[in-house]
Amino acid sequence: MSEINSKSPVWDKIVATYRAGLSSMEEFKRMELHFPQFLSYDLDGSVFRIGVAEELQKEWFSQLYVKPLEAAIKTAGLGDGISVVFEIVENKEMHAPGNAANIAKEDKVESQRKTQTKDPSPQRSRALPSTLPLHETYTFANFVRGPSNSFAYAAAIAVAKGLGRTAYNPLFIWGSTGLGKTHLMEAIGHHVMDNNPDCSVCYITSETFLNEYTNAMANATLPKFRARYRKYDLLLLDDVQFLVGKKQFQEEFFNTFNQLMIFNKQVVMTCDVAPKELGLEERLISRFQQGMVVEIESPSYETRIAILKSKMQGRNRIIPNEILSFIAENIRSHVRAIEGALSRIVTFMDVNPEMPLNLEIAQHLLKDMIEDEATIKKITPETVIQAVADHYGVSVKDIIGPGRPQSLITPRQMAMFLSCKLTTDSLPNIGKVFDRKHTTVYYGSQQIQKRLSVEADLKQDVQQIAGKLGRNISDALE
Ligand code: ADP
Ligand code: MG
Repeated sequence: MSEINSKSPVWDKIVATYRAGLSSMEEFKRMELHFPQFLSYDLDGSVFRIGVAEELQKEWFSQLYVKPLEAAIKTAGLGDGISVVFEIVENKEMHAPGNAANIAKEDKVESQRKTQTKDPSPQRSRALPSTLPLHETYTFANFVRGPSNSFAYAAAIAVAKGLGRTAYNPLFIWGSTGLGKTHLMEAIGHHVMDNNPDCSVCYITSETFLNEYTNAMANATLPKFRARYRKYDLLLLDDVQFLVGKKQFQEEFFNTFNQLMIFNKQVVMTCDVAPKELGLEERLISRFQQGMVVEIESPSYETRIAILKSKMQGRNRIIPNEILSFIAENIRSHVRAIEGALSRIVTFMDVNPEMPLNLEIAQHLLKDMIEDEATIKKITPETVIQAVADHYGVSVKDIIGPGRPQSLITPRQMAMFLSCKLTTDSLPNIGKVFDRKHTTVYYGSQQIQKRLSVEADLKQDVQQIAGKLGRNISDALE
């Protein structure tokens, strides 16, 4: 085991065992980014030493990997009670003459360096610890513009070109899932990395950010956590809706955020709702709104066609126009679904190269996706009442029945409110379903609307029920 190096089967086995225990894509991506930064491996008695170049890496990787790697070594059957230690591999030690182990180490370091320089993705060599890798394809060049996203696109370009010097700071991009928020945010990152070699960029999801904060608290390393984030020139923080309800962390985030602003560092955030609907502390929301808030909406038919065509570029497959139109007509909710539909068609073509693709086959292949779309679109007062009843643990009969116990007021009014917001039915029609006058429905709906501005729990109810019906909270609250 003392022969371990990045190519040895033993290290491979440890990595494979570690990888098999990962439970999220994020952990996987992080490993892909971090493990190539390990410079050497040495088993010294019952201590397994991993060499890294800098103090920050040592500290960071120790927090992240010591325990999991120890567990992996044990699970892989390579030894019980072996402890993992990260240490800085010093240059003078590596250059000490006549020491075979050091020469071997040096070779490893060199080959490691070579692999790193060969790596085509720019983020590997430039990344500071704690930043997640950017998707290579999420660039401005690959982003299709249309009326639904042109404003967000223009703001993103301005931020990428004028880093920290525009009035768009922070830039807050919001919209439903799968509409290109992450893509646009990472495009800013790519542009800055390609054009400003001295800028340090951090892309991170709010969930990871929160986890790191919690770890830093637990390990009493908050000052280091703070110092690390405050030195980035560009902080890309994805999915800030994760901050909701985390009071203590909001305070920390507010401070980090202010520091970055003071030094003209650029912050970009994405979120699935508008800032005012986030349910965060007021001062944070107003701070967000001092920059630029842009929305990405669902793409129009023309944009959906353009996206399909752009996703086909570079693949040597030709999909007949009538099939592209069929996809664009039927899959409307979000771009991720459009990509999913396209990749199903492409896979079919790959697997059945002899069979000419026609509309009938495409209809068959996408049947379930189209049905899903239909349920997303078709929300009726009846489906709303059912979802509300399920949420509050009452029956549909309770909601539409004549009884007026106190306990039914909120579920009934909530069903009225959501029926008004989420369906296209007229008030009189909704009234019929509730077996009540349309003025009663209107009154009930207004009651919920009023309470929403003061009752956070109620807002959460709206969010959850709307979510179950496949709708974003913003659809219901606008
Ligand atoms: P979000 O972060 O809003 O949930 P993503 O940015 O992850 O959405 O986008 C989902 C997928 O759709 C990604 O593969 C992305 O490349 C693609 N996509 C979204 N909008 C566009 C667009 N305007 N042009 C090209 N691809 C897009
Ligand atoms: Mg996203």
